[in-house]
Amino acid sequence: MNRIVVVGASAAGLAAVETLRREGYDGTLTLVGDELHPPYDRPPLSKQVLSAEWTPDRVTLRASAELDSLELELRLGLAAVRLDVTDRTVRLADGSAVPYDGLIVATGVRPRRLPGEGAHVLRTLDDALTLRERIGPGQRLVVVGAGFLGAEAAAVAWKLGAQVTLLEPAPVPLAHAVGAEVGRVLTRAHLQRGVDLRTGVSVTEVTEDGVRLADGETIDADEVLVAVGSLPNVEWLAGSGLSVGDGVICDEYCEAAWGSPRPKAGGVYAAGDVARWYNPLFGVSMRIEHRTNAAEQGMAAARNLLNPEARKPFAPVPYFWSDQYDMKIQAYGYLRGHDEVRVVEGELEEGRFVAAYRTGERLSGVLAVGVPPKVLRGWRQAIAVGAGWGEAVN
Ligand SMILES: Cc1cc2nc3c(=O)[nH]c(=O)nc-3n(C[C@H](O)[C@H](O)[C@H](O)COP(=O)(O)OP(=O)(O)OC[C@H]3O[C@@H](n4cnc5c(N)ncnc54)[C@H](O)[C@@H]3O)c2cc1C
Repeated sequence: MNRIVVVGASAAGLAAVETLRREGYDGTLTLVGDELHPPYDRPPLSKQVLSAEWTPDRVTLRASAELDSLELELRLGLAAVRLDVTDRTVRLADGSAVPYDGLIVATGVRPRRLPGEGAHVLRTLDDALTLRERIGPGQRLVVVGAGFLGAEAAAVAWKLGAQVTLLEPAPVPLAHAVGAEVGRVLTRAHLQRGVDLRTGVSVTEVTEDGVRLADGETIDADEVLVAVGSLPNVEWLAGSGLSVGDGVICDEYCEAAWGSPRPKAGGVYAAGDVARWYNPLFGVSMRIEHRTNAAEQGMAAARNLLNPEARKPFAPVPYFWSDQYDMKIQAYGYLRGHDEVRVVEGELEEGRFVAAYRTGERLSGVLAVGVPPKVLRGWRQAIAVGAGWGEAVN
Protein backbone atom coordinates (compact mmCIF):
# COMPACT_ATOMS: atom_id res chain seq x y z
CA MET A 1 0.00 0.00 0.00
CA ASN A 2 1.53 3.31 -1.10
CA ARG A 3 -1.20 5.89 -0.81
CA ILE A 4 -3.56 6.25 2.10
CA VAL A 5 -6.12 9.04 2.39
CA VAL A 6 -7.89 9.95 5.62
CA VAL A 7 -10.88 12.28 5.24
CA GLY A 8 -11.84 14.26 8.36
CA ALA A 9 -9.10 15.98 10.35
CA SER A 10 -10.36 15.68 13.90
CA ALA A 11 -10.09 13.16 16.75
CA ALA A 12 -10.63 10.00 14.67
CA GLY A 13 -8.69 11.16 11.61
CA LEU A 14 -5.73 12.29 13.69
CA ALA A 15 -5.62 9.01 15.62
CA ALA A 16 -5.70 7.15 12.31
CA VAL A 17 -2.78 8.99 10.69
CA GLU A 18 -0.68 8.76 13.87
CA THR A 19 -1.33 5.02 14.13
CA LEU A 20 -0.46 4.43 10.49
CA ARG A 21 2.93 6.07 10.97
CA ARG A 22 3.53 4.37 14.32
CA GLU A 23 2.80 1.00 12.71
CA GLY A 24 5.48 1.66 10.13
CA TYR A 25 3.48 2.86 7.13
CA ASP A 26 5.88 5.13 5.19
CA GLY A 27 3.93 5.78 1.98
CA THR A 28 2.05 8.92 1.00
CA LEU A 29 -0.44 9.91 3.68
CA THR A 30 -3.02 12.60 2.95
CA LEU A 31 -5.23 14.11 5.65
CA VAL A 32 -8.17 16.08 4.26
CA GLY A 33 -10.28 18.35 6.46
CA ASP A 34 -12.84 20.99 5.57
CA GLU A 35 -12.13 23.15 8.62
CA LEU A 36 -9.21 25.56 8.45
CA HIS A 37 -7.99 24.76 11.95
CA PRO A 38 -5.56 21.92 12.52
CA PRO A 39 -7.14 19.07 14.55
CA TYR A 40 -8.64 20.27 17.82
CA ASP A 41 -10.61 18.79 20.69
CA ARG A 42 -14.38 19.31 20.85
CA PRO A 43 -15.42 18.38 24.43
CA PRO A 44 -13.92 21.56 25.95
CA LEU A 45 -15.96 23.71 23.53
CA SER A 46 -19.13 23.40 25.63
CA LYS A 47 -17.16 23.57 28.88
CA GLN A 48 -13.85 25.46 29.26
CA VAL A 49 -14.02 27.38 25.97
CA LEU A 50 -17.62 28.52 26.36
CA SER A 51 -16.93 29.61 29.93
CA ALA A 52 -13.75 31.41 28.75
CA GLU A 53 -11.67 29.50 31.30
CA TRP A 54 -9.48 28.39 28.40
CA THR A 55 -8.08 30.38 25.54
CA PRO A 56 -8.89 28.78 22.18
CA ASP A 57 -5.31 27.61 21.53
CA ARG A 58 -5.63 25.07 24.37
CA VAL A 59 -7.94 22.85 22.35
CA THR A 60 -5.32 22.24 19.65
CA LEU A 61 -4.61 18.51 19.70
CA ARG A 62 -1.03 18.56 18.37
CA ALA A 63 1.69 21.19 18.14
CA SER A 64 2.65 22.01 14.56
CA ALA A 65 6.04 20.28 15.02
CA GLU A 66 4.23 17.06 15.98
CA LEU A 67 2.02 17.31 12.90
CA ASP A 68 5.08 18.01 10.72
CA SER A 69 6.78 14.89 12.02
CA LEU A 70 3.95 12.78 10.55
CA GLU A 71 4.95 13.94 7.06
CA LEU A 72 1.38 14.39 5.94
CA GLU A 73 -0.03 15.91 2.83
CA LEU A 74 -2.28 18.13 4.86
CA ARG A 75 -5.23 19.48 2.88
CA LEU A 76 -7.10 21.73 5.32
CA GLY A 77 -10.00 24.00 4.45
CA LEU A 78 -11.00 21.65 1.64
CA ALA A 79 -13.99 19.33 1.63
CA ALA A 80 -14.02 15.94 0.00
CA VAL A 81 -16.99 16.08 -2.38
CA ARG A 82 -17.01 12.68 -4.05
CA LEU A 83 -15.61 9.19 -3.71
CA ASP A 84 -14.93 7.28 -6.91
CA VAL A 85 -14.19 3.66 -6.12
CA THR A 86 -13.53 2.64 -9.74
CA ASP A 87 -10.50 4.82 -10.24
CA ARG A 88 -9.94 4.92 -6.45
CA THR A 89 -9.87 8.67 -5.97
CA VAL A 90 -11.29 11.19 -3.55
CA ARG A 91 -12.42 14.37 -5.28
CA LEU A 92 -11.93 17.61 -3.38
CA ALA A 93 -13.86 20.87 -3.53
CA ASP A 94 -11.09 22.60 -5.51
CA GLY A 95 -11.50 20.08 -8.34
CA SER A 96 -8.39 18.07 -7.50
CA ALA A 97 -8.45 14.29 -7.20
CA VAL A 98 -6.43 12.41 -4.58
CA PRO A 99 -5.72 8.77 -5.44
CA TYR A 100 -5.76 6.13 -2.71
CA ASP A 101 -4.97 2.47 -2.13
CA GLY A 102 -6.55 2.69 1.31
CA LEU A 103 -9.13 5.16 2.64
CA ILE A 104 -10.39 6.01 6.11
CA VAL A 105 -13.61 8.02 6.37
CA ALA A 106 -13.69 10.11 9.56
CA THR A 107 -16.01 12.95 8.62
CA GLY A 108 -17.96 13.05 11.88
CA VAL A 109 -21.35 14.65 12.26
CA ARG A 110 -22.91 18.10 11.99
CA PRO A 111 -25.68 19.65 14.09
CA ARG A 112 -29.30 19.21 13.17
CA ARG A 113 -30.96 22.58 12.67
CA LEU A 114 -34.46 23.96 13.02
CA PRO A 115 -36.37 26.09 10.54
CA GLY A 116 -35.63 29.81 10.83
CA GLU A 117 -32.52 31.95 10.90
CA GLY A 118 -30.13 33.26 13.49
CA ALA A 119 -29.78 30.38 15.96
CA HIS A 120 -26.42 29.20 17.23
CA VAL A 121 -25.22 25.63 17.03
CA LEU A 122 -22.24 24.25 18.93
CA ARG A 123 -19.98 21.91 17.02
CA THR A 124 -16.88 23.84 15.96
CA LEU A 125 -14.39 26.09 17.68
CA ASP A 126 -15.81 29.03 15.75
CA ASP A 127 -19.33 28.16 16.95
CA ALA A 128 -18.10 28.17 20.56
CA LEU A 129 -16.26 31.47 20.23
CA THR A 130 -19.26 33.15 18.60
CA LEU A 131 -21.64 31.94 21.31
CA ARG A 132 -19.20 32.89 24.05
CA GLU A 133 -19.22 36.50 22.82
CA ARG A 134 -22.99 36.61 23.09
CA ILE A 135 -23.75 35.22 26.52
CA GLY A 136 -23.22 37.12 29.71
CA PRO A 137 -24.99 38.49 32.77
CA GLY A 138 -28.69 39.16 32.18
CA GLN A 139 -28.69 37.91 28.59
CA ARG A 140 -31.71 35.76 27.80
CA LEU A 141 -30.56 32.48 26.29
CA VAL A 142 -32.96 29.82 25.04
CA VAL A 143 -31.37 26.41 24.64
CA VAL A 144 -33.41 24.02 22.51
CA GLY A 145 -32.70 20.42 23.49
CA ALA A 146 -31.70 19.19 26.95
CA GLY A 147 -29.40 16.38 25.85
CA PHE A 148 -25.82 16.30 27.10
CA LEU A 149 -24.70 19.16 24.85
CA GLY A 150 -27.65 21.43 25.62
CA ALA A 151 -27.35 20.69 29.34
CA GLU A 152 -23.64 21.51 29.40
CA ALA A 153 -24.17 24.77 27.52
CA ALA A 154 -27.07 25.72 29.82
CA ALA A 155 -24.89 25.06 32.86
CA VAL A 156 -22.07 27.27 31.58
CA ALA A 157 -24.45 30.05 30.53
CA TRP A 158 -26.08 29.96 33.97
CA LYS A 159 -22.65 30.26 35.58
CA LEU A 160 -21.92 33.27 33.39
CA GLY A 161 -25.06 34.95 34.74
CA ALA A 162 -27.34 34.45 31.74
CA GLN A 163 -31.07 33.93 32.16
CA VAL A 164 -31.41 30.43 30.73
CA THR A 165 -34.52 28.71 29.39
CA LEU A 166 -33.99 25.07 28.47
CA LEU A 167 -36.63 23.49 26.23
CA GLU A 168 -37.03 19.76 25.78
CA PRO A 169 -39.71 17.80 23.87
CA ALA A 170 -39.42 14.63 26.01
CA PRO A 171 -41.16 14.49 29.40
CA VAL A 172 -37.80 13.67 31.04
CA PRO A 173 -34.60 14.86 29.41
CA LEU A 174 -32.13 12.11 28.50
CA ALA A 175 -34.58 9.38 29.51
CA HIS A 176 -34.12 7.59 26.17
CA ALA A 177 -30.37 7.45 26.79
CA VAL A 178 -29.98 6.88 30.53
CA GLY A 179 -33.45 6.00 31.79
CA ALA A 180 -36.11 8.19 33.40
CA GLU A 181 -34.87 7.94 36.99
CA VAL A 182 -31.33 8.99 36.20
CA GLY A 183 -32.59 11.55 33.68
CA ARG A 184 -34.68 13.12 36.45
CA VAL A 185 -31.66 13.46 38.74
CA LEU A 186 -29.59 15.08 36.02
CA THR A 187 -32.49 17.40 35.27
CA ARG A 188 -32.92 18.44 38.89
CA ALA A 189 -29.57 20.18 38.72
CA HIS A 190 -31.03 22.76 36.32
CA LEU A 191 -34.13 23.39 38.40
CA GLN A 192 -32.12 23.82 41.60
CA ARG A 193 -30.21 26.67 40.00
CA GLY A 194 -33.20 28.45 38.61
CA VAL A 195 -32.74 27.47 34.99
CA ASP A 196 -36.20 27.54 33.46
CA LEU A 197 -36.43 23.95 32.26
CA ARG A 198 -39.60 23.18 30.33
CA THR A 199 -40.25 19.63 29.23
CA GLY A 200 -42.79 18.28 26.76
CA VAL A 201 -42.21 21.38 24.68
CA SER A 202 -41.58 21.27 20.91
CA VAL A 203 -39.95 24.16 19.12
CA THR A 204 -41.07 24.51 15.53
CA GLU A 205 -39.13 27.56 14.46
CA VAL A 206 -36.45 30.02 15.37
CA THR A 207 -37.71 33.59 14.92
CA GLU A 208 -36.10 37.02 15.02
CA ASP A 209 -37.15 37.43 18.64
CA GLY A 210 -36.67 33.90 19.99
CA VAL A 211 -38.48 30.68 19.27
CA ARG A 212 -41.99 29.57 18.36
CA LEU A 213 -43.47 26.47 19.98
CA ALA A 214 -45.79 23.87 18.47
CA ASP A 215 -48.76 25.31 20.38
CA GLY A 216 -48.11 28.75 18.87
CA GLU A 217 -46.59 30.30 22.02
CA THR A 218 -43.41 32.29 21.50
CA ILE A 219 -40.50 32.64 23.89
CA ASP A 220 -38.38 35.76 23.56
CA ALA A 221 -34.64 35.46 23.71
CA ASP A 222 -31.52 37.47 22.99
CA GLU A 223 -29.78 34.32 21.75
CA VAL A 224 -30.96 30.83 20.81
CA LEU A 225 -28.80 27.72 20.87
CA VAL A 226 -30.17 24.70 19.00
CA ALA A 227 -28.83 21.42 20.40
CA VAL A 228 -31.19 18.83 18.95
CA GLY A 229 -28.81 16.12 17.85
CA SER A 230 -26.68 15.59 14.82
CA LEU A 231 -26.48 14.10 11.34
CA PRO A 232 -23.57 12.04 10.02
CA ASN A 233 -21.54 13.67 7.23
CA VAL A 234 -22.06 11.05 4.53
CA GLU A 235 -23.52 13.06 1.62
CA TRP A 236 -20.15 13.20 -0.15
CA LEU A 237 -20.26 9.39 -0.38
CA ALA A 238 -23.53 9.33 -2.34
CA GLY A 239 -23.24 7.26 -5.50
CA SER A 240 -19.95 5.69 -4.39
CA GLY A 241 -21.48 2.26 -3.80
CA LEU A 242 -20.70 2.37 -0.07
CA SER A 243 -23.57 1.44 2.18
CA VAL A 244 -24.60 4.56 4.07
CA GLY A 245 -27.60 5.18 6.25
CA ASP A 246 -27.33 6.63 9.69
CA GLY A 247 -23.57 6.76 9.18
CA VAL A 248 -21.15 4.68 7.15
CA ILE A 249 -22.21 1.06 7.67
CA CYS A 250 -19.23 -1.07 8.70
CA ASP A 251 -18.48 -4.61 9.81
CA GLU A 252 -16.78 -5.50 13.08
CA TYR A 253 -13.39 -4.58 11.59
CA CYS A 254 -14.61 -1.05 10.80
CA GLU A 255 -14.43 -1.88 7.10
CA ALA A 256 -17.13 -0.10 5.14
CA ALA A 257 -19.86 -2.28 3.67
CA TRP A 258 -20.99 -2.04 0.06
CA GLY A 259 -24.58 -1.34 -0.97
CA SER A 260 -23.76 -2.34 -4.54
CA PRO A 261 -21.35 -5.10 -5.63
CA ARG A 262 -18.07 -4.77 -3.80
CA PRO A 263 -15.33 -3.40 -6.07
CA LYS A 264 -12.30 -5.61 -6.64
CA ALA A 265 -10.27 -3.73 -4.12
CA GLY A 266 -12.16 -2.55 -1.04
CA GLY A 267 -9.79 -0.92 1.40
CA VAL A 268 -12.32 1.60 2.76
CA TYR A 269 -12.72 1.91 6.53
CA ALA A 270 -14.60 4.36 8.75
CA ALA A 271 -14.05 5.64 12.28
CA GLY A 272 -15.47 8.02 14.85
CA ASP A 273 -18.88 9.71 15.02
CA VAL A 274 -19.63 8.91 11.36
CA ALA A 275 -19.10 5.14 11.64
CA ARG A 276 -21.92 2.71 12.35
CA TRP A 277 -20.13 -0.53 13.00
CA TYR A 278 -20.99 -3.91 14.43
CA ASN A 279 -19.65 -4.14 17.97
CA PRO A 280 -19.35 -7.88 18.68
CA LEU A 281 -19.06 -7.30 22.42
CA PHE A 282 -22.70 -6.19 22.50
CA GLY A 283 -23.88 -7.91 19.33
CA VAL A 284 -25.22 -4.57 18.14
CA SER A 285 -24.58 -2.25 15.22
CA MET A 286 -23.86 1.08 16.88
CA ARG A 287 -22.86 4.63 16.05
CA ILE A 288 -21.67 6.58 19.04
CA GLU A 289 -20.59 10.16 19.47
CA HIS A 290 -17.96 9.84 22.18
CA ARG A 291 -14.54 11.39 22.18
CA THR A 292 -12.67 8.33 23.42
CA ASN A 293 -14.34 6.09 20.88
CA ALA A 294 -13.32 8.39 18.03
CA ALA A 295 -9.63 8.02 18.92
CA GLU A 296 -9.80 4.29 19.64
CA GLN A 297 -11.70 3.55 16.46
CA GLY A 298 -9.34 5.71 14.40
CA MET A 299 -6.50 3.55 15.70
CA ALA A 300 -8.36 0.28 15.10
CA ALA A 301 -9.38 1.20 11.56
CA ALA A 302 -5.80 2.21 10.73
CA ARG A 303 -4.36 -1.08 12.03
CA ASN A 304 -6.94 -3.18 10.20
CA LEU A 305 -6.42 -1.29 6.95
CA LEU A 306 -2.67 -1.76 7.17
CA ASN A 307 -2.63 -5.42 8.19
CA PRO A 308 -5.59 -7.14 6.48
CA GLU A 309 -4.30 -10.60 7.40
CA ALA A 310 -4.14 -9.81 11.10
CA ARG A 311 -7.37 -7.82 11.39
CA LYS A 312 -9.01 -7.65 14.79
CA PRO A 313 -12.66 -6.91 15.53
CA PHE A 314 -13.20 -3.54 17.18
CA ALA A 315 -15.06 -4.49 20.35
CA PRO A 316 -14.67 -1.68 22.88
CA VAL A 317 -16.63 -0.84 26.01
CA PRO A 318 -17.79 2.67 25.00
CA TYR A 319 -17.00 5.46 27.48
CA PHE A 320 -18.25 9.01 27.79
CA TRP A 321 -18.26 11.77 30.32
CA SER A 322 -20.12 15.03 30.74
CA ASP A 323 -19.61 17.97 33.09
CA GLN A 324 -22.67 19.92 34.19
CA TYR A 325 -22.58 22.43 37.06
CA ASP A 326 -20.62 20.60 39.79
CA MET A 327 -21.63 17.16 38.45
CA LYS A 328 -19.14 14.88 36.80
CA ILE A 329 -21.03 12.21 34.87
CA GLN A 330 -19.21 9.15 33.54
CA ALA A 331 -20.61 6.15 31.74
CA TYR A 332 -19.28 2.88 30.38
CA GLY A 333 -21.04 0.46 28.09
CA TYR A 334 -24.05 0.68 25.81
CA LEU A 335 -27.00 2.03 27.73
CA ARG A 336 -29.43 2.48 24.85
CA GLY A 337 -32.33 0.05 24.75
CA HIS A 338 -31.71 -1.15 28.32
CA ASP A 339 -34.37 -3.14 30.17
CA GLU A 340 -33.59 -2.15 33.76
CA VAL A 341 -31.62 0.38 35.78
CA ARG A 342 -30.52 -0.32 39.34
CA VAL A 343 -28.64 1.96 41.71
CA VAL A 344 -25.76 -0.17 42.99
CA GLU A 345 -23.78 2.39 44.97
CA GLY A 346 -24.75 5.66 46.69
CA GLU A 347 -28.15 7.32 46.36
CA LEU A 348 -29.79 9.09 43.46
CA GLU A 349 -31.13 11.70 45.87
CA GLU A 350 -27.64 12.55 47.12
CA GLY A 351 -26.44 13.10 43.57
CA ARG A 352 -23.60 10.64 44.18
CA PHE A 353 -24.26 7.21 42.78
CA VAL A 354 -23.45 4.37 40.41
CA ALA A 355 -26.36 3.01 38.35
CA ALA A 356 -26.06 -0.32 36.55
CA TYR A 357 -27.94 -1.10 33.33
CA ARG A 358 -29.32 -4.49 32.35
CA THR A 359 -30.03 -5.46 28.74
CA GLY A 360 -31.47 -8.93 28.44
CA GLU A 361 -29.60 -11.03 30.99
CA ARG A 362 -26.33 -9.13 30.95
CA LEU A 363 -24.77 -6.06 32.48
CA SER A 364 -24.67 -3.64 29.53
CA GLY A 365 -23.50 -0.42 31.19
CA VAL A 366 -22.94 1.76 34.22
CA LEU A 367 -23.41 5.47 34.78
CA ALA A 368 -21.94 7.31 37.73
CA VAL A 369 -22.19 10.78 39.15
CA GLY A 370 -19.71 12.21 41.60
CA VAL A 371 -17.50 9.15 42.09
CA PRO A 372 -13.77 8.87 41.36
CA PRO A 373 -12.92 7.05 38.10
CA LYS A 374 -11.31 4.15 39.96
CA VAL A 375 -14.69 3.15 41.40
CA LEU A 376 -15.80 2.30 37.87
CA ARG A 377 -12.82 0.14 36.86
CA GLY A 378 -14.33 -3.08 38.15
CA TRP A 379 -17.64 -2.31 36.46
CA ARG A 380 -15.94 -1.59 33.18
CA GLN A 381 -14.13 -4.90 33.40
CA ALA A 382 -17.37 -6.74 34.15
CA ILE A 383 -18.95 -5.23 31.02
CA ALA A 384 -15.85 -6.09 28.96
CA VAL A 385 -16.10 -9.78 29.86
CA GLY A 386 -19.85 -9.86 29.22
CA ALA A 387 -20.78 -10.49 32.87
CA GLY A 388 -24.28 -11.73 33.57
CA TRP A 389 -26.62 -9.37 35.44
CA GLY A 390 -27.01 -11.65 38.43
CA GLU A 391 -23.30 -12.13 39.04
CA ALA A 392 -22.54 -8.43 38.43
CA VAL A 393 -25.05 -6.76 40.72
CA ASN A 394 -25.42 -9.25 43.56
C1 LIG B 1 -19.39 20.77 22.09
C2 LIG B 1 -19.11 19.31 22.18
C3 LIG B 1 -18.88 18.74 23.42
C4 LIG B 1 -18.60 17.37 23.53
N1 LIG B 1 -18.38 16.83 24.76
C5 LIG B 1 -18.10 15.52 24.86
C6 LIG B 1 -17.86 14.93 26.14
O1 LIG B 1 -17.92 15.61 27.18
N2 LIG B 1 -17.56 13.61 26.20
C7 LIG B 1 -17.49 12.82 25.07
O2 LIG B 1 -17.23 11.61 25.17
N3 LIG B 1 -17.71 13.36 23.84
C8 LIG B 1 -18.03 14.67 23.72
N4 LIG B 1 -18.25 15.22 22.46
C9 LIG B 1 -18.19 14.35 21.27
C10 LIG B 1 -16.77 14.27 20.68
O3 LIG B 1 -16.24 15.54 20.55
C11 LIG B 1 -16.85 13.57 19.34
O4 LIG B 1 -17.22 12.23 19.60
C12 LIG B 1 -15.55 13.61 18.54
O5 LIG B 1 -15.20 14.92 18.21
C13 LIG B 1 -15.71 12.81 17.26
O6 LIG B 1 -14.56 12.89 16.50
P1 LIG B 1 -14.59 12.56 14.93
O7 LIG B 1 -13.17 12.77 14.48
O8 LIG B 1 -15.23 11.27 14.70
O9 LIG B 1 -15.58 13.62 14.28
P2 LIG B 1 -15.57 15.21 14.29
O10 LIG B 1 -14.90 15.71 15.52
O11 LIG B 1 -16.95 15.63 13.98
O12 LIG B 1 -14.64 15.56 13.05
C14 LIG B 1 -14.96 15.34 11.72
C15 LIG B 1 -14.21 16.35 10.87
O13 LIG B 1 -14.42 16.06 9.50
C16 LIG B 1 -14.75 17.27 8.82
N5 LIG B 1 -15.51 16.94 7.61
C17 LIG B 1 -16.83 16.64 7.50
N6 LIG B 1 -17.17 16.40 6.23
C18 LIG B 1 -16.03 16.53 5.50
C19 LIG B 1 -15.73 16.41 4.12
N7 LIG B 1 -16.65 16.05 3.22
N8 LIG B 1 -14.45 16.62 3.71
C20 LIG B 1 -13.49 16.95 4.63
N9 LIG B 1 -13.73 17.10 5.95
C21 LIG B 1 -14.98 16.88 6.38
C22 LIG B 1 -15.53 18.03 9.85
O14 LIG B 1 -15.62 19.41 9.54
C23 LIG B 1 -14.69 17.77 11.10
O15 LIG B 1 -13.60 18.64 11.16
C24 LIG B 1 -18.55 16.57 22.35
C25 LIG B 1 -18.81 17.16 21.10
C26 LIG B 1 -19.09 18.52 21.01
C27 LIG B 1 -19.36 19.14 19.65
